[in-house]
Amino acid sequence: MSETRTRRPAPVWQSGEVVDVIEETPETKSLRIRLPQPVEFLPGQYFNIRIPVEGRPRPIQRAYSIGSSPFPNFEVIEVGVKEMLGGLVSPVLVRKTPVGGSLEVRGPYGTFTWTEGDGGPVLMVAAGSGVVPFMGMIRYQRERGTAVPMHLLFSSKAEEFVIYRSELEAMVASTSWLEVSHTFTRDPTSATPRFNRRIDKEMVSEIFAEVGPKLAYVCGPPEMVDDVERALLEGGMDSASIKTEKYD
Ligand SMILES: Cc1cc2nc3c(=O)[nH]c(=O)nc-3n(C[C@H](O)[C@H](O)[C@H](O)COP(=O)(O)OP(=O)(O)OC[C@H]3O[C@@H](n4cnc5c(N)ncnc54)[C@H](O)[C@@H]3O)c2cc1C
Repeated sequence: MSETRTRRPAPVWQSGEVVDVIEETPETKSLRIRLPQPVEFLPGQYFNIRIPVEGRPRPIQRAYSIGSSPFPNFEVIEVGVKEMLGGLVSPVLVRKTPVGGSLEVRGPYGTFTWTEGDGGPVLMVAAGSGVVPFMGMIRYQRERGTAVPMHLLFSSKAEEFVIYRSELEAMVASTSWLEVSHTFTRDPTSATPRFNRRIDKEMVSEIFAEVGPKLAYVCGPPEMVDDVERALLEGGMDSASIKTEKYD
C-alpha cells in the first residue's frame, strides 16, 4: 500500500450496504459495510456514520474506527460498535441494522494509524471497543505478512465481553509477532487473564519493561487514555512516540 500522503479530495457521504453483522459480545457487533465508492484508508482510521433520529431535524453522526484491514481490499469496511445504553446512535447500529440495510458513511479520517513503515515493537493499550483500530492494524499486518512485534494490553469487563476473543487467540497461537495481555475488571477471580483490575500505572510499567516499545498507541475512554499516556511518559517514553485516540 502506498504511504505517500498526497492531498485527497474531502471524503463525501455515501450510502453503504450492510453485507454482514457479526455478534462479537453481548453488547458489541461488527458491521461489514460495502462502499459504492471505495476509498483507500490506513489501518487505525475511522469513518463517520450518520442516521436519522426521530425528533431531530438533521441526521446524528458518530465516529467509528475501522476494524478491517485496507489490504488487500478496501471495498468493504468493518466497524465494531458497542451499545451505549441510552445513546442515540450505537443502540440503533447494534440492534436495528440488519444485513441488507443501508448506512450513510463518510471517511476515512484520523492520524491514529500504523503501517509496517512505522516499525516497532508496538505497544497497544485498549479498553472495550478501543480495541477496534488495533484489530485493523493487527489484521493488516497479518495480510501483509510482516512480523513487527505487537503487544496488545486489553481491558474488558469479563471473558464474555472480550471483543474478537477467538480471532485474537488464534492469531497469538499462529504468529510469532503478536502477544495479548488481558485484564478483566469485573471478574476478580477468573484465572484466564493476566491481570484482574483496571489498567493502572504498575500494569503499564510491567508491560512496558517487557515490550520495550518504539511506539505506543492508546485507545478508549478519555480518562483511561490520559492515565496510560501519563504512565508511559513517566516511564521514559517520549511524547512523539505515543499516539492516542479518545472515544468521547
Ligand atoms: C475517533 C473515534 C472513534 C470511535 N470509534 C468507536 C468504535 O470503534 N466503536 C465504538 O463503539 N465507539 C467508538 N467511538 C464512540 C462513538 O463515536 C460514540 O460516541 C458512541 O457509540 C456513543 O454514541 P451514541 O450516539 O450511542 O451515544 P450518545 O447519544 O452520544 O450518548 C452517550 C452516552 O451518554 C449518555 N447521555 C447522552 N445524553 C445525556 C444526557 N443529557 N445526560 C446524561 N447522559 C447522557 C447516553 O445515555 C449514553 O450512555 C469512537 C469515537 C471517536 C471520537
